[in-house]
Amino acid sequence: MSNTSSSATTKISSFVLLVIFMALALSLTALVLAVNIFGSNDIAAYYLLLIGFLGMALSAYVLLQTRKRIKRLSIKAPPITTTIECGKCGFKNIREFQRGDYVFKEVDSCQKCNENMLITAIYREVKEKREKTFF
Ligand SMILES: [Zn+2]
Repeated sequence: MSNTSSSATTKISSFVLLVIFMALALSLTALVLAVNIFGSNDIAAYYLLLIGFLGMALSAYVLLQTRKRIKRLSIKAPPITTTIECGKCGFKNIREFQRGDYVFKEVDSCQKCNENMLITAIYREVKEKREKTFF
């Protein structure tokens, strides 16, 4: 699968992941710092502890949300289908779209009469709308 929507999704997700991991690293730093200054400056330590936990909770939440959204996006992109037809006997073959496919391109020979087959249609398979509401 190499369509544009999935590559865009990966780009967005890797950027979001980077941000989340930076937030996680900062939260961890805050936690380590809090442990280190415990005893010498308790109020600052508590604040850092709070910031650390909040940061971790927030990045975990965002991570879960993003994963959910990516899952939904990848489900929503239906596969592209190529229809191949034999002009002689009318034999029809349907397969997944492959790079380099175009309408009226001659492809492999017919299974029935060995005549060259033509691509007659390229389309996105749209399945019945069965959208569920989760909320
Ligand atoms: Zn044929």
